[in-house]
Amino acid sequence: MHEVAAAPAWVSLAYLVSGVLFILALRGLSSPASSRRGNRFGMAGMLIAVVTTLVTHEIASLPEILIAIAIGGVIGFVTAKKIAMTDMPQLVAAFHSLVGLAAVLVAIAAYMNPEAFHVLDATGTDILQVSRIEMGLGVAIGAITFSGSVIAFLKLNGNMGGKPIMLPGRHIINLGTLAAIVVLVGLFHLNTPELFIAIVVLSFIIGFLLIIPIGGADMPVVVSMLNSYSGWAAAAMGFTLHNTAMIITGALVGSSGAILSYIMCRAMNRSFISVIAGGFGADDAGSGGGEAKEQRPWKRGSAEDAAFLMGQAEQVVIVPGYGMAVSQAQHVLREMGDLLKAEGVKVKYAIHPVAGRMPGHMNVLLAEANVPYDEVFELEDINSEFSQTDVAFVIGANDVTNPAAKTDKTSPIYGMPILDVANAKTVLFVKRSMGGVGYAGVDNDVFYMDNTMMLLGDAKKMVEEIVKSMAH
Ligand code: NAP
Repeated sequence: MHEVAAAPAWVSLAYLVSGVLFILALRGLSSPASSRRGNRFGMAGMLIAVVTTLVTHEIASLPEILIAIAIGGVIGFVTAKKIAMTDMPQLVAAFHSLVGLAAVLVAIAAYMNPEAFHVLDATGTDILQVSRIEMGLGVAIGAITFSGSVIAFLKLNGNMGGKPIMLPGRHIINLGTLAAIVVLVGLFHLNTPELFIAIVVLSFIIGFLLIIPIGGADMPVVVSMLNSYSGWAAAAMGFTLHNTAMIITGALVGSSGAILSYIMCRAMNRSFISVIAGGFGADDAGSGGGEAKEQRPWKRGSAEDAAFLMGQAEQVVIVPGYGMAVSQAQHVLREMGDLLKAEGVKVKYAIHPVAGRMPGHMNVLLAEANVPYDEVFELEDINSEFSQTDVAFVIGANDVTNPAAKTDKTSPIYGMPILDVANAKTVLFVKRSMGGVGYAGVDNDVFYMDNTMMLLGDAKKMVEEIVKSMAH
């Protein structure tokens, strides 16, 4: 039997230290105030894990490893430098797809060359039972992560429509495919290459099938769910490669991603099962809400009007959304908040859990602009306050304020909690045009309310003009 030589004690210790640093990193990332420290812990943990692995494993020659690191490092560095903040979600989806693909490739390599991976049994000719299960699971989760993430990337990048694609009988097809994968993994001890190939192919297909029916408002949950899958794929790879650090890291990513998905589902009023089952419970008739723009009357305001109304207010609640990120209006928005506070106006920021295009998107931008944390409130903590608010200043947000989520059963965002901006005395709504819609592609009744004033234009420019008017 090809036993894996026990790792020296210092290696286990180094992996343990890196595991503890990853846990501290997650803890740090739970609050904006400690997130930088959390990131540093994560970087230190990863450095220790990578160096330990390189020093102890004879995977390839040092020059080969250095060339691979250089190629990957340059691609990663250039991509991260060039990517706009608004394109982050698709970048994350693309990275998840690479983790999935890596897990598939590792499993294929181990299957083709079991001796090199120390997974042969006592006979020296057959792959160990336990390794087969690990490889079967690794390749299945990896392939699902890969194809699912590719579809998520295409949807988030706008190459594929955001609307759910509902295949007839999809639940039967999905359940049948999943059941077939489970049976094939169970049968994998028979060690026929056909079984292995069938697991890979079916897993690629199910990843694709699970994500195409998910659209609009459910994409954030999908991104965090694929994040979780990529973690489990990495953990499975860790078992095949006998690497403790990878098992720990994969399990941490897998479980924290699963918890995040659960939190997002609760915030979105969706059932966890319905999302992971792929559009389960979504209305087959579908798109709802209607894209056709109605010719209803609406009021247009100017920057001067907005400056006047907010200057007179006792409380202004700012609701940022994706458009604030697009125009990078957060800095001038904080300036506007400072000016209002100097006038004695109470200023608060209301954050919807799926505002923007990635979890925590708005919190990151506001923190970057040094908005004090105690002025930033989550939906459940601020929603009841809109009825006592003079001005709700909606900047580049749309879906997260749309009352159709409460009233229109056919709407793709039906059931999602919203920020009740309509309850404020006045709503100032910043967006570029009446034609533009939010991510879910639906019209918003708030535009046409008597107490709403539309401020049409680029968010940053509009706030700059408001600030100028305030200064006069
Ligand atoms: P949204 O519904 O996508 O609306 C964005 C608004 O910003 C639009 O009304 C758009 O109208 C406006 N806008 C865009 N660029 C602008 C600019 N330069 N200046 C001024 N306005 C601009 O955004 P949201 O309310 O933040 O809702 C987020 C949506 O994204 C939800 O449906 C959510 O489910 C989905 N989503 C979220 C995540 C996540 O993790 N947070 C991930 C994926 C998807 P104009 O075009 O007329 O300007």
